[in-house]
Amino acid sequence: MDVTDLLRELGVADAVVPDGGIAVRTPIDGSVIGHVALDDAAAVDAALADAEAAFRHWRRVPPPARGELVRLFGEELRGAKDALGRLVAVESGKILPEGLGEVQEMIDICDFAVGLSRQLYGLTIASERPGHRMMETWHPLGPVGIISAFNFPVAVWAWNSALALVCGDTVVWKPSEKTPLTALACQALLGRALARYDGIPGDVAAGLSRVVIGGVEVGAALVADPRARLISATGSCAMGRAVAPVVAARMGRALLELGGNNAMVVTPSADLDLAVRAILFAAVGTAGQRCTSLRRLIVHDDVRAALVARLKRAYEGIKVGSPLEDDTLVGPLIDERAFTAMQAALVAAAADGGTVSGGARTLADELPDAWYVRPAIVEMPGQTRIVTEETFAPILYVVPYRELDEAIVLHNAVDQGLASCIFTTDLREAETFTSAAGSDCGIANVNIGPSGAEIGGAFGGEKQTGGGRESGSDSWKSYMRRATNTINYSTELPLAQGIEFN
Ligand code: NAD
Repeated sequence: MDVTDLLRELGVADAVVPDGGIAVRTPIDGSVIGHVALDDAAAVDAALADAEAAFRHWRRVPPPARGELVRLFGEELRGAKDALGRLVAVESGKILPEGLGEVQEMIDICDFAVGLSRQLYGLTIASERPGHRMMETWHPLGPVGIISAFNFPVAVWAWNSALALVCGDTVVWKPSEKTPLTALACQALLGRALARYDGIPGDVAAGLSRVVIGGVEVGAALVADPRARLISATGSCAMGRAVAPVVAARMGRALLELGGNNAMVVTPSADLDLAVRAILFAAVGTAGQRCTSLRRLIVHDDVRAALVARLKRAYEGIKVGSPLEDDTLVGPLIDERAFTAMQAALVAAAADGGTVSGGARTLADELPDAWYVRPAIVEMPGQTRIVTEETFAPILYVVPYRELDEAIVLHNAVDQGLASCIFTTDLREAETFTSAAGSDCGIANVNIGPSGAEIGGAFGGEKQTGGGRESGSDSWKSYMRRATNTINYSTELPLAQGIEFN
């Protein structure tokens, strides 16, 4: 597949080397679309040194002036949306509308960050002492290390870097080794914005954002370095388990966005038309390779047969194929490893008494090096161990229930706590699900599927999903340090708690 024109349009044709480094494959047909030079621990060291030097200047630029850079970057993204969205589809295998949607998400977070650059508010707090004022101020934190996963190759970086930049931080990004081209394209687009931004000297501009290309070793070098004051890491729970102790041991700050095992509860009063549409988008979209993909359908016995029959019919009509073709809904899995993991999960589910529909490989004759599958529905007798694991593929387990309390217990009985939803028209059920005694996830929706979040809300999850929040709401606070200031404008020195010390 020839992506030369796209790379040229995005300004990264030069980043592709003739040989060596990382061979970048497109999951569309499994072919190598380019080679990219590999970085090492010394490159991480140099990137952090530059990021730290740039930080010392950038932190003193007023936040609205920092916002201007992000505004320019948003303009560059608007101009390059089609090319970048297409490159996302080529490199990650997600369908073109989702690739374009991912770039739109970058544009949206830039807009959000520009507004935020005038709203980094602190509190004023009532002082117990006369002639005193107490307040909170928020200051830039330092270089932020960003580690991202293959399935959102550009949006997750934008969530982090748009906020980090207006907060006065600099960033060093280690993208997934499976998607380096989109990362280099983002960096080139930010470079175009920097070329139009005259708020800072050239050497500062060069250190504001850096990309280091490589796998686990490069990521580990970034994680271990105390100059990366915040590590914002997105990926599997296993990655989080490796990263968290290293950051904790150096007393750094970690923002973890890890795996999910997301569920929908469908109650007897649910609008099944809505539910079927939501299930389809959430369970098979991005070929089941979203952190928020719907994996568990917990359905009341009274509506289970009708819902499953409708889903099976809808699944039969899904077009699996090239993500660049107009009517495709399901593109390829990222690689053979993902396919093998999916097949192993289906075998385990069948051994646990599950009835499997779909799940087979398709297009193998035409595209022997690509991994396309029919999405699977697996009717389970109960929530067995395999159902409680995240398999990063389009498998939807259907688990029955009779009482809402039982559904909520099943719902929460997994290690992850990312996204969840209930389909119901019963107010009591909806409120119970979103209450303190309901879903234990970071995202809990009513009559909306678990995936496809807007950038305005805080995004993230509990338990082994890592507890981090990024994107909207007050997530910006993770990228800043807080100082409490007490100002004495009196002529006395009263002590707090009424202490006398004469
Ligand atoms: P992965 O864990 O294999 O890799 C993610 C990133 O972490 C890559 O850049 C990888 O090189 C790096 N990495 C892995 N081990 C590391 C280590 N020890 N030290 C430093 N860096 C390390 O994940 P993946 O296969 O790319 O993505 C799929 C996973 O990501 C799924 O579990 C999915 O749920 C999760 N995910 C979560 C979110 C979220 O926001 N919660 C978003 C997207 C993906």
